[in-house]
Amino acid sequence: MPAMLFDSHSHLHDKKFNHDRAAAMERAKAAGVCAILALGDTLGRSRDAITLAEHSDMVFAAAGVHPCEAHEWNDESGAALRLLLDHPRVIVLGEIGLDFYWDKKEAALKQQHRAFREQLEIARERRLAVSIHCRESTSAVLDVLEEMHAGDIGGVLHCFSGNDDEARRTLRLGFHIGVGGTSTYPKSQALRDTIRKAGLDNLLIETDAPYLAPQVHRGKRNEPAFVADTASALAATLGVTVGEVAEKTWGNTLKAFRLAERGVSIP
Ligand SMILES: [Zn+2]
Ligand SMILES: [Zn+2]
Repeated sequence: MPAMLFDSHSHLHDKKFNHDRAAAMERAKAAGVCAILALGDTLGRSRDAITLAEHSDMVFAAAGVHPCEAHEWNDESGAALRLLLDHPRVIVLGEIGLDFYWDKKEAALKQQHRAFREQLEIARERRLAVSIHCRESTSAVLDVLEEMHAGDIGGVLHCFSGNDDEARRTLRLGFHIGVGGTSTYPKSQALRDTIRKAGLDNLLIETDAPYLAPQVHRGKRNEPAFVADTASALAATLGVTVGEVAEKTWGNTLKAFRLAERGVSIP
């Protein structure tokens, strides 16, 4: 059993876990998962992530509005989000970003940009790292981060799916690369090559549970325990041991989220 895995991106508060959340957390512990970041996608579900984190030592929360929910972002949202960020169990702002997969209409994209940029400013003001969603939008996300000189904000491009050039731009900004279930799919060889070139020092591991289960569980609901399978696959990609992947990605996560600086200690 690899020690100290950090599932840096999950939605364990999602209703798909309502019938077995406690059991899923026990399975995660048994698989070596010691910490889980639960990310909100709306303000309401950010509150749910915080409630879960209040009741578990191993769960921490992120609050933010997802690009697919950007239609809910309005003039009052910044103040409402800041209230959630005041909570001591909130350690990251997210998930935020751009999504060019679900809705490509111009008005929706404009609203996505507004929500993304305003939340990046709030992250900067609060000195919080961000977890960024970049489905089919990696280059556009990097354009925004570069334009806003977001290196001082920092964080992770979760479920990274970019190419070598986009990986280099990510690292140049001081951001990290989130490696999830999609990296284990047979067709993802180019992504694995990019991840290998990015190097273990720059990687976090994640599930994005309940979505995107790794290959060995494909088609099933994903859950935090399965981050161990992604860690094993990553070890094979990099030619290192699972123990090295666990140890390095654990440290990378603390660094990416600047947890020492924030005085957050993880069990
Ligand atoms: Zn996402
Ligand atoms: Zn997510």
